[in-house]
Amino acid sequence: MARRGKHRAGRPYRRARAQMFAIYGDTCHICGHHGAGEADHLVPVSLDCEQPIDPHAMRPAHGANARCPVCGRACNTERGNRPVTYAVRTSQAW
Ligand SMILES: [Zn+2]
Ligand SMILES: [Zn+2]
Repeated sequence: MARRGKHRAGRPYRRARAQMFAIYGDTCHICGHHGAGEADHLVPVSLDCEQPIDPHAMRPAHGANARCPVCGRACNTERGNRPVTYAVRTSQAW
């Protein structure tokens, strides 16, 4: 089998993820509740796939597989590719 060249899912990424949880704990950076189990890139990987693997470039967030036990949101998924500032304001503009 050919090795995949993508580094994103590899061991360095998992290590950075573990470091991120060590640094920031499990408090979701989007809704502010505990129990966050996913690493959310401050700059979405889909917008900048060349960004370095850096635990400081990620924050804990809830995701579809581990929704917030307090507010029930899948913060990371709801945010999608929008910048972080949009996610903080949840009120609709229209
Ligand atoms: Zn959350
Ligand atoms: Zn929450």
